[in-house]
Amino acid sequence: MHQAKKKFGQNFLKDHNLLKKIVSSAKIEGLDVIEVGPGMGALTQFLVLNARTVTAYEIDTSLKPILAKFENNHPNLKIIYGDFLDMEIPNGTFHLVANIPYYITSSIIFKFIELPQMKSATIMIQKEVADRINAKPNSKQYNALSIILQYYCRVKKVMDVPRHMFTPKPNVDSVVIRLEKYDTRPLNNEQELYFIELIKHAFKQKRKTLINNLYEAYGIDKEVLITYLKTFGLDEKIRAEAIDVQTFIEMAKKPINK
Ligand code: SAH
Repeated sequence: MHQAKKKFGQNFLKDHNLLKKIVSSAKIEGLDVIEVGPGMGALTQFLVLNARTVTAYEIDTSLKPILAKFENNHPNLKIIYGDFLDMEIPNGTFHLVANIPYYITSSIIFKFIELPQMKSATIMIQKEVADRINAKPNSKQYNALSIILQYYCRVKKVMDVPRHMFTPKPNVDSVVIRLEKYDTRPLNNEQELYFIELIKHAFKQKRKTLINNLYEAYGIDKEVLITYLKTFGLDEKIRAEAIDVQTFIEMAKKPINK
């Protein structure tokens, strides 16, 4: 029997109905799938039946004997041992499906965003991260991550998954979310870099006004900043958390520091 390793974020699934639901919500029929952390193959066993190919990245080499059995039985499965975050992803078009290790949730999501080969992600994540990704303006959870993710992807909540579905049982509840990357985006590469920088600065100190955060970041005269915000119909007392994704996009088209 495999002993779960905390340092690798190992919380295994076993309920077949749940696993099948994750796979059907991923819409991967005939497509190429990347799985992060196959573990003992709980999700992998269903992925290989649906996908054209499955490439699974597993950091824990002690799982080799268990995973080798699946690999031998399914020629469309390839398991690569190592840290997913260090891996080069080949050319092609891939769909990420995974019950991911929670200690690297954000890094995995950012890798998904950055790689043009990745088209969709159907992933199990902590409920609190899912709430942030899904958050709307003026809510407590709305932050830089919400905006950046919602800019790149259509975000859908698939289902709640209570902690008792995992072995060992984690300290948090989970959610399966689906991220579908938009085929086209309203900003060019240079504007996107500014967009991300602007949002990070805007939320640097959430309780401060946008003007104060931008003043600290860019050192631009506050009168100039007030005029800049007016261009977008924004009040000088506004905080970043009240600004929607579309307005940040408009701001990225007219950088303040240029
Ligand atoms: N998919 C399985 C296991 C989920 S637990 C199931 O649902 O039952 C998370 C898995 O991710 C574990 O197998 C763990 O060893 C693996 N893992 C952790 N960090 C990783 C990393 N950096 N790269 C690849 N796999 C990793």
